[in-house]
Amino acid sequence: MTHHTSDKHLHARVIERRDISPDLRVLRLDPGAPFKFHAGQYATLGVERDGQRFERAYSIASSPYEDFLEFFIELVPEGDVTPSLFKLQIGDGLLCRKIAKGRFTLDLHSGRTQHLLVSTVTGVAPFVSYIRTLHRDWKDGQGAMQGSHQSHGERRAHGEHGSHSEHETGGHQVHGAHGASGAHQRHGEHKMPGPHKLFLLHGASRSCEFGYREELERVAAEVPWLEYVPTVSRPWEEHKWKGETGRVDDVLRKYADVWGLRPEVTTAYLCGHPSMVEHGRGILHRAGWKKDAMFDEVYFVQGKSGSAGAASA
Ligand SMILES: Cc1cc2nc3c(=O)[nH]c(=O)nc-3n(C[C@H](O)[C@H](O)[C@H](O)COP(=O)(O)OP(=O)(O)OC[C@H]3O[C@@H](n4cnc5c(N)ncnc54)[C@H](O)[C@@H]3O)c2cc1C
Repeated sequence: MTHHTSDKHLHARVIERRDISPDLRVLRLDPGAPFKFHAGQYATLGVERDGQRFERAYSIASSPYEDFLEFFIELVPEGDVTPSLFKLQIGDGLLCRKIAKGRFTLDLHSGRTQHLLVSTVTGVAPFVSYIRTLHRDWKDGQGAMQGSHQSHGERRAHGEHGSHSEHETGGHQVHGAHGASGAHQRHGEHKMPGPHKLFLLHGASRSCEFGYREELERVAAEVPWLEYVPTVSRPWEEHKWKGETGRVDDVLRKYADVWGLRPEVTTAYLCGHPSMVEHGRGILHRAGWKKDAMFDEVYFVQGKSGSAGAASA
């Protein structure tokens, strides 16, 4: 790949590749320079072909605490960017815009302490970033989601975290909403995440597409603040699957009830396939969720063919 120098881009390099399925891949990148972000934000990755640059948004699955950037990517065979991303080998380079963007961060400021996370396939990425960050905070007994990402050994310098309203200026002190000096920090090393609790629903066509199931099940078994339910929409294709079945929007209402989630105290986050996000919002709206308690990240606009790939689960 040719490398045009640009003051807007970092020259990132692939340091690890995990093939989840023929059309799903986890890519780990060394961004090549410090890259700051908040859990839940996205990076803009770019490839160059025939003298042209093509760029797309990808939610960051890694935590700001980690020294690499990780992405969970689905191949769109006719797409401009993903076929090139799927050709990348360890050591290959690609472009990454220097500025992370997005407001799909964990809402620690509204006073709602329950967080219903709903995703299809690669849409789990920002939630993995929340969970890795909270898990590390929980183990370290620090405040929640405090820092921006500083790779290459840089340490976090300040305790700030963007909110949905002030995100890109990095406005809020987590401690304000989270009460770091308060009661929930009493329990020695397990100070995190205080009263906050995450409930993650993850849909895929088949269980091999979850990508992060092992990690998420491990964390959910370890901590008191995470519930994780993966659900497959094509159970007839794998008789060994003993878990939940159905599309994620089909089981959304059921789990909101099972988990006892009330709209007044629960922020909902929907991420991934546009139909799931639309249906999910409708279901939650009918169950009493107000607009300001629902956030979404829609990954693409559905094409004319309506072809949806794995992301539709
Ligand atoms: C904020 C944000 C975060 C995102 N995060 C991720 C992520 O973490 N992982 C990820 O894989 N993608 C993510 N996306 C989608 C990503 O930006 C690209 O749109 C996607 O990878 C396709 O890029 P492409 O250039 O290969 O295809 P394009 O040339 O952009 O698309 C070709 C056609 O395929 C359709 N299409 C695009 N994506 C899909 C899909 N998944 N399934 C079916 N049809 C599709 C488009 O509508 C278009 O008609 C995110 C998008 C946004 C806006």
